[in-house]
Amino acid sequence: MPLITIDGKQIEVEKGVTVIQAAERLGINLPRYCYHPGLSIVGQCRICLVEIEKMPKLQVACYTPVTDGMVVHTQTPKAMRGRKDVLELLLVNHPLDCPVCDQAGECYLQDYYMKIGQYDSKMVEDKNKKHKALDIGPHVMLDSERCILCTRCVRFCNEVSKSNELGIFNRGDHAELLPYPDRRLDNNYSVNTVDICPVGALTEKDFRFEARVWYLQQTDSICPGCSMGCNVSVHTNTERDHHAEGRRVVRLKPRYNAEVNKWWMCDFGRYSYQPVDDSSRITAPMLKDGKGGWIETSWEVAIEAVAAKIKKALPLKKNAQVGIWASPQMTNEDLFVLRQFNQKLGFNQVAIGVTPKEKPFSDEFLIKEDKNPNTRGAAALGYNLDMEASRGIYRLAFDNQLAVLIIFHHDLAAGFDPQHLATALGNVQTLVFVGPNRNTTSEFAHILLPAASWPEKEGTFTNFAGRVQRLHQAVAPLGDARPEWQILKLLGKELGMSVPYLEAADIFAALGQSVPAFAGLNYERVGNSGAMLKG
Ligand code: SF4
Ligand code: SF4
Repeated sequence: MPLITIDGKQIEVEKGVTVIQAAERLGINLPRYCYHPGLSIVGQCRICLVEIEKMPKLQVACYTPVTDGMVVHTQTPKAMRGRKDVLELLLVNHPLDCPVCDQAGECYLQDYYMKIGQYDSKMVEDKNKKHKALDIGPHVMLDSERCILCTRCVRFCNEVSKSNELGIFNRGDHAELLPYPDRRLDNNYSVNTVDICPVGALTEKDFRFEARVWYLQQTDSICPGCSMGCNVSVHTNTERDHHAEGRRVVRLKPRYNAEVNKWWMCDFGRYSYQPVDDSSRITAPMLKDGKGGWIETSWEVAIEAVAAKIKKALPLKKNAQVGIWASPQMTNEDLFVLRQFNQKLGFNQVAIGVTPKEKPFSDEFLIKEDKNPNTRGAAALGYNLDMEASRGIYRLAFDNQLAVLIIFHHDLAAGFDPQHLATALGNVQTLVFVGPNRNTTSEFAHILLPAASWPEKEGTFTNFAGRVQRLHQAVAPLGDARPEWQILKLLGKELGMSVPYLEAADIFAALGQSVPAFAGLNYERVGNSGAMLKG
């Protein structure tokens, strides 16, 4: 393996590794615009210039493979001067509109200008004018004056999404990034181009002008959009109420996980935060009034009402059962407590899934057909994934044999004929809906219990491959909402069952001790990149 020295530090690396990659392993972060570890290397922007002994000219670190005995200097006056000149050239036609640019605060041009630029512009000529605020796709706007032609977005569309929408047109200082004629940047991964654009040329419609990035907080979490379990960073705006129209969660960004999504996420998952702050949230326990409306109530009253109906149904009778329709949208912790609840009270009419009427979209890259984040976790916890279990409960409802049915999260309209469903749910004596948002199903309920939404709680999801990954609380539950396990704890207490856990970590520790698939796992071992289930 070649041995290389960078800034006096030695490192052995595999053949084919380039200087910028070797430097990174030594903790030396060289500036870059065009280089991105997930894309092919083009050596286009030249900002990563370094001095290499025995080479007369400065070399681009991203494009130069290491050779045995190579000695590299990254901080010499010559290297710094080279980068400064490159930066000056890149800024020749770049508008000085940082105060109104959405990228301000996370822009590589700004950052490197402060680190290595800091010159007075020699430009007296007018800057070239190019297209501004071009609507190039359902989610992305282009300001081509700000583009530094690094081609990251072009390579992303050619190599990752393989949709080939973008190209560089014209020559010299008139060269411009644009979609091909009659094309739009419209693929299932389009917003990743915004993430990797090092400047403010590509911005996201949903986020632009909503909040200044320096006011945002970031929390590691997992996308709930499908069973892939892409790692994400939840960006929240809690410091400035008047920004983003009061939205607390303002955007999701993909978070690198070599074993799951690498640097990317899909556009569907990207917007899975939208229901968190929307008007469909259930923010307080509710009871149906006699006229089809809702009355807000306290947790005590709502829980007492549910418990009273369950107590009345016990001992279970063949024609007055208690049905539990759990959801693979729930965390492992919620499902574990629910399993204990069912076992203790002898509830055996338990379902978990709904078969969608139409086959959900999937692809060969990230997007999975299963639109739930925790189906694998539910299976490991012993929930019966067979849709016959769901149909069985549905039949009991339809046949007027359910005294109580507790539905977690699901909108059953996704899987059943609306009229038939209305009859089935209408025949349940007491229908309880537990979830963060109202839906068609919740409207049939007699009691609504508000559950915390995924960015509002701690816990874990298990992805399709059996990787257990952590969610972290990014914002407090809205209104009176609570994680499902806490709701079950309240209900258990009313029913004479002790749920001893104080926090999600306690539940996960118990899970690791009592469920073989989770043996030996705890939050520390799961860490930030996840851990595999046993077997
Ligand atoms: S739009 Fe952004 S990512 Fe695309 S070439 Fe221009 S600077 Fe690079
Ligand atoms: S592929 Fe699935 S998990 Fe990944 S971002 Fe899209 S919806 Fe979310």
